Amino acid sequence: MSISTLAKSIAESPTIRLNEEARLLRERGEAVIHLGIGEPKNRAPMTALLSAAAKLNTGDIKYTPTDGLPSLKKAIIRYTEENYDKVVAPENVIVSGGAKQSIYNLLYTILNPQDEVIILAPYWVSYPEMVKMVYGVPVIVTPEDGGLHPRMEDILQAVTSSTRAIIVNSPNNPSGVVFSDAFIAQIVEFCEKKNIYLIMDDIYHKLVFDGKHAAPAYRFSNKDIESTKIIVVNGVSKLYGMTGFRIGWAVANRQLVEIMTNVQSQVTTSTSPFLQVAAEGALTGLQSIVENLRLSIQNNRDVIMQELKSFTGVKCVKPDGTFYCLPDFRAYTNNSVELSNLLLKKAFVVTVPGKEFGMEGHLRLSYAGSMKDVTEGIARIKWVLDPNSPNEIYIGDKKMVRDWQ
Ligand code: PMP
Repeated sequence: MSISTLAKSIAESPTIRLNEEARLLRERGEAVIHLGIGEPKNRAPMTALLSAAAKLNTGDIKYTPTDGLPSLKKAIIRYTEENYDKVVAPENVIVSGGAKQSIYNLLYTILNPQDEVIILAPYWVSYPEMVKMVYGVPVIVTPEDGGLHPRMEDILQAVTSSTRAIIVNSPNNPSGVVFSDAFIAQIVEFCEKKNIYLIMDDIYHKLVFDGKHAAPAYRFSNKDIESTKIIVVNGVSKLYGMTGFRIGWAVANRQLVEIMTNVQSQVTTSTSPFLQVAAEGALTGLQSIVENLRLSIQNNRDVIMQELKSFTGVKCVKPDGTFYCLPDFRAYTNNSVELSNLLLKKAFVVTVPGKEFGMEGHLRLSYAGSMKDVTEGIARIKWVLDPNSPNEIYIGDKKMVRDWQ
């Protein structure tokens, strides 16, 4: 079979693969605990469901404008004004099939072959692959101090004349770290001065804890929307727990949005109108749902941190946002893929190997599920790793025996 070299080189999304593995194990009746999951467990907001149902009831489900329904774009403009203090026009907004597609379209639109994109480790698994898919070169920058917060000095060393963009994701998947205002200010200033696009993946920007905030990059720029290098990507997936609705957007200058629209028009035409009106329903409905979601996740964060504390040798930076944490398991092993496989096979706990995010020796644990999942999941991980654990435990009605070192 003839398959392109590029397509062959693109890695499968490990998180999507793990979801599938967990589903198959559950289907077999195993009592799987999914600490790999990247979505909250809430129901979609009622306003979203009602809007979608009303649209479906009309029976009038056709293509929409490629850049999104004007009414949804209006809601996004209002959201941008309220949350970013930035006034933008409809021509600055493009709606896509999830933030993922927004980022892909954006990279397709701004990169020439061999252009470099700086990606800050730990990073979301899809960034490097998407850069490669448009013939760009991902340049991974890892903090030299071994920490999880990016440092300007490391970034400066990686910038070359081919650097076209830097992707910043704060609050960060997978670490849960919220980048400091000082760092965001520095990177904005640097990108504007050097004419490098600054892609702000803000998909978790409202999922922040303890009164912390993720500073909008716009705050540190005095340029208007048409001249700034900042591009903001966001969506309803994490904000409202509406991952399956597949609605995201990008806010950028008109010229970029126009070209992104041309690109999108040749690939997907538009996203579905009833999913777009659902997103609009969520954006214009009661916002207390976001706060409720945030509070329940913050609570789970406290529980997982507490559970991890009792774990000898495991270090974990307390997350200030998202629903992930990235504990360091190097006291046990440097091989996160092997560890993740062991946990799945021996204790039916799904975790994502840190290697996938550029952080070997770590595991990404999600606390987006129920509190019971969090406590039971960590207890099982402890059972696997602690040599003093009892030799046998029951998971569901299955007896598991410690037959490893
Ligand atoms: N960016 C980051 C950092 C993410 O974690 C995700 C989802 N896992 C996305 C973008 C994509 O979100 P969407 O569902 O809107 O495509």
